Amino acid sequence: MKKIIIALDGHSSCGKSTMAKALAKKIGYIYVDTGAMYRTVTLFALRNNIFNGAELDAARLEALLPEVSVSFVLDPETNLPLACLNGEVVEREIRTMEVSSRVSPIAALPFVRTMLTKMQQQMGEAKGIVMDGRDIGTAVFPQAELKIFVTASAEVRAQRRYDELTAKGESVTFEEILKNVQERDYIDSHREVAPLKQAEDALVLDNSNMTREEQNEWLMQAYLKAAGATCV
Ligand code: C5P
Repeated sequence: MKKIIIALDGHSSCGKSTMAKALAKKIGYIYVDTGAMYRTVTLFALRNNIFNGAELDAARLEALLPEVSVSFVLDPETNLPLACLNGEVVEREIRTMEVSSRVSPIAALPFVRTMLTKMQQQMGEAKGIVMDGRDIGTAVFPQAELKIFVTASAEVRAQRRYDELTAKGESVTFEEILKNVQERDYIDSHREVAPLKQAEDALVLDNSNMTREEQNEWLMQAYLKAAGATCV
């Protein structure tokens, strides 16, 4: 079967990465979580006092950007990519509420998007990749052979995120997560550069009432069709 690019975009916390990871593992594709890349730059910004309350010193971040290296290493146990900031594995640090609440303004900065988009395009040059994010089918790979736009109600998404974070021991409330999910949706869809929107040729998946297995099966069928599987 031919190797293709699979772009999964959609709202925050709708389970894109879980589906994308499962598919990539099953079909032997590389999985790239582009949200992790924006989160890693945000962690750098937090560590370097780019934020002053609600203010963001974009000029300082732009000047410091050449010092930021975002990369992935494979977890030897799970074989899944772990995000690194200047060579340090920061997978846990980038998933906190602190980073979630700061990432969308950082992701709206054009110079941050230019840097990360270029990296993402290089990662997909050889195809055979499943990439999830907000602008993969519209800006990073508008030529992707398969584009999926995933969504679910804000309440369902907040509940899933709440379960995930509390399982990891983070002390959070459902209300603050719902607020964060709604704020990120708003900023992500209203920014000037590469806003979150459904590509015209994307298949839409509303997974509010679907089990993980049903979603995985739906995605597998979409992949088989796009990659040109034929019965013999
Ligand atoms: O996917 P995740 O929720 O981890 O993404 C975190 C944030 O990174 C999003 O809310 C969005 O602001 C930003 N993002 C983006 N473009 C992408 C991926 C993520 O702007 N391709």
